[in-house]
This record gives sequence, structure tokens and C-alpha cells, in this order.
Amino acid sequence: MALDFGLSEEQRQFQVLADRVLQRFAGRREELKRMILKEHRFPQELWDAFAEAGFLGALIPEKYGGSATGLLSLALACEQMGAHGYGSALMVLTAMDTACIVRNASEEMKKRILPQIAQGKLKLCFAVTEPNAGSNTFRISTVAKRTPDGKHYRLTGEKTFITGADVADLMLLVVRTTSVEECKAQGLPKAFGLSLLLVDPKSKGVTLTPLPTRGIEGFTQFSIHFDDALVPVDSLVGEQDAGAVALFTSLNPERILAAALACGMTKYLLQKSVAYSLDRKVFADKPIGTHQAIQHPLAELQIELEGTRLLTYQAAWGFDQGLEPQQVGYYANCAKYKAAEMAIAAADRAIQTHGGSGFSEDMGIIYYWEGARLLRTAPITKEMILNYVAEHKLEMPRSY
Ligand SMILES: Cc1cc2nc3c(=O)[nH]c(=O)nc-3n(C[C@H](O)[C@H](O)[C@H](O)COP(=O)(O)OP(=O)(O)OC[C@H]3O[C@@H](n4cnc5c(N)ncnc54)[C@H](O)[C@@H]3O)c2cc1C
Repeated sequence: MALDFGLSEEQRQFQVLADRVLQRFAGRREELKRMILKEHRFPQELWDAFAEAGFLGALIPEKYGGSATGLLSLALACEQMGAHGYGSALMVLTAMDTACIVRNASEEMKKRILPQIAQGKLKLCFAVTEPNAGSNTFRISTVAKRTPDGKHYRLTGEKTFITGADVADLMLLVVRTTSVEECKAQGLPKAFGLSLLLVDPKSKGVTLTPLPTRGIEGFTQFSIHFDDALVPVDSLVGEQDAGAVALFTSLNPERILAAALACGMTKYLLQKSVAYSLDRKVFADKPIGTHQAIQHPLAELQIELEGTRLLTYQAAWGFDQGLEPQQVGYYANCAKYKAAEMAIAAADRAIQTHGGSGFSEDMGIIYYWEGARLLRTAPITKEMILNYVAEHKLEMPRSY
């Protein structure tokens, strides 16, 4: 790769703009955080401000109303969001679905959907996980069958842990149009038969049941049942039965943006920790921040942040440059792995620096522990990333 560590003028402007937009809410941070943490609602006005600043159009070509500034720009915006103490899972999910639509959908679908996403009018969620298929996507059994008149898909099955399905206007749904058994019988690989559909979660035959889950503040997770729900055939994104590649390449932006949010979260926690440690006096008149035992772990995190941020930018840059999805996938996985472990360490260190106040709901640090810890498990687990790196980078045998 080319070694150019500078951001383009456009990317730098995007970063500054993101910061400015978030500064506008600085005076109302406590009120907004209360809405997110206590009422489990993500403020619409924050979403509108992100849309107005062009975050949601970053991956969309100009001819569909986007700014096409790219994933690195969006990662910079997400990092700023994290650095201001926010995170929006639905923005990450909308962005990953957008990347999938841009690269795989029909011209008609792009014209119909993309301008509305760019304007912030459409929120999108993503549904792949099922009760019997989390890490092993090929095992999903939600089925979409064409109706005899060829006009609809009939959906049956169940998804679980689906974030924001109640507030999303559309859901990028991963289904099987050919079952694993049919693939086996026809001598086809199990990667065959996956398809992607853009479905309205409020459609008839689709039932959302809230799941009491922690880890993503401001949004609820749902289990979703499909009981003979009918969706029009033009909901298909890409080719029927050939959705695997589109799906796996769309997971890269999700991992990269999750890593960017984690970098921002780490910065936020570091800032909070430093400020508290310079204020809190325990022995004599010396703030706790004068002790190396408090300083050094924070300094280590700062160094970790520099490296993880570079890895995240490299992954986003690779996506924007159109590198091979496997290459982008490697860096996206590495970035997400490092960022998750770093954010967990940052949350742990912030709690320790704050003493008992680290557990105070009013102080708010403890919520970041859950958010950071989730990243070791979702959107992909730490173990599946290590499996991937061992198999694909180190060329070691697949263990499962
Ligand atoms: C708060 C939250 C929000 C979520 N939002 C969404 C969403 O919006 N959309 C969506 O589709 N999903 C969502 N998920 C689901 C999430 O992506 C999955 O939980 C995650 O991918 C892990 O799948 P699983 O829970 O089925 O774990 P499993 O696959 O059952 O794994 C359990 C454990 O076994 C380990 N393991 C499994 N196989 C292997 C192996 N071969 N080698 C080593 N270790 C292995 C895993 O790493 C893990 O530690 C969300 C989950 C949570 C908790």
C-alpha cells in the first residue's frame, strides 16, 4: 500500500464538520444521554443533524443524492461521535446496508432508496442472526420462496437480536432461497442459496418481540417472526441465491465503523479519566492523577489508540480504494479486534480511575463498560476473527 498518512482536504473537513455538529449538542449532552440511557430512545434530532451534515450520504454516489466522500470520512465522523460520548448502532447498520445496496442493487432500487437514505429519511436495520445460526451464517433457515405467480417472496422463519427493528423503515434481511439440504442434494456449496431482501419490518406477517438485552444504548433488540409474510420480488438486493459475496463484503463496513466508534469511545473515556484524576484529591493535596499508577495505564491506552486508529483508517481506506474484499476483510477484522479489546481496557481503566464513582449511574462511566464489552461479541466474535486470521493470513488448518 501507499504510505500516505495525511487525510485529504475533504476528509479533514468532514472530521471538523462532525465535531462541529456534535459541539452543537454539548450543552444538552446530559439531557440527550438521559434519553438514550434511561428512556432507551435515540434522539431523532441527533439523527437529523447527522443526516444534515451528510454522514448518511457518505457512501452514496452523487447521482443518487449522496456526497460519495467514502467510508474513511464516515469512520472519521463515527470516531467523533464516540469521542463526544455517543454511538449510534443504527447509523452503522444503515451505512453497512447502504454499502450493500450501492454495490449490489438494481438501478431501479438504487434510484428508489439511496436518495432517501442520503436525506436521512430512511433508517435501516440488518437481520442475519437466528436462534440456531449466529457465528455460522450458512446455517440460517429463514426461507424465502417465490409465490407461483412470481410476484412475491413468501417468508417463514425467525431472526433474533435484531437491533432497532422498531425504528427502522427497512431491514436488510438475509434469507435462504435454496436450503442447505437442497444445496447438498444438488451438489452445490452451502454458500449458494443465500439471498438479501429489503423488507419493511411493519409488513403483514412480520412480528417483532422485544428482547431485554444490554450493550447498545438507545436501541432495542428484537426477535422477529416471519409467518408467511409476502414481500414483492423487487425487494431482492443483487442476485437470487448469490447473496453470500454481497453479504460478506457488506459486513466489512460494519466492522470498520464499529472499530471507529470504539476509537472515539476510548478517546472519550481517556478524556473523562484524565479530567477526573486531575480533580480528585485523596491523600494530602495531590490529585490522584499525579501518581504513576494512575497515569501509566492511561498513557498506554493513548499509545494503543494511535495504533488502532491507523489500522481502522487503513481498513476504511482499502474499502474506498476498492481493494479485494478479502484484503479489506482482513484489515476490518484486525481493526475491529484491536478496537474492541482497547475499548474494553479503556472502560475498565476509566472505572478504576473513578474509584466507586465509576459505578455511579450519574457519572455514566459504567454504561460504557457494557457498550465496549459488546464489541468483543458483536458484530462478530473475537474467536471468529482469530479463526479467520489463523486460516486466511497464517494459512493454518481450519479448526471447525
Ligand atoms: C446487543 C446485541 C445486538 C445485536 N444486533 C444484531 C443485529 O442488529 N443484527 C444481527 O443480525 N445480529 C445482531 N446481534 C447478534 C450478534 O451478531 C451475535 O450474537 C454474534 O455474532 C454471535 O453469535 P451467537 O450469539 O449466535 O453466538 P454463537 O455463534 O452461538 O457463539 C457462542 C460462542 O462460541 C464461540 N464459537 C462459536 N463457534 C466457534 C468456533 N468455530 N471457534 C471458536 N469459537 C467459536 C463464539 O465465538 C462465542 O464465543 C446482536 C447481538 C447483541 C448481543
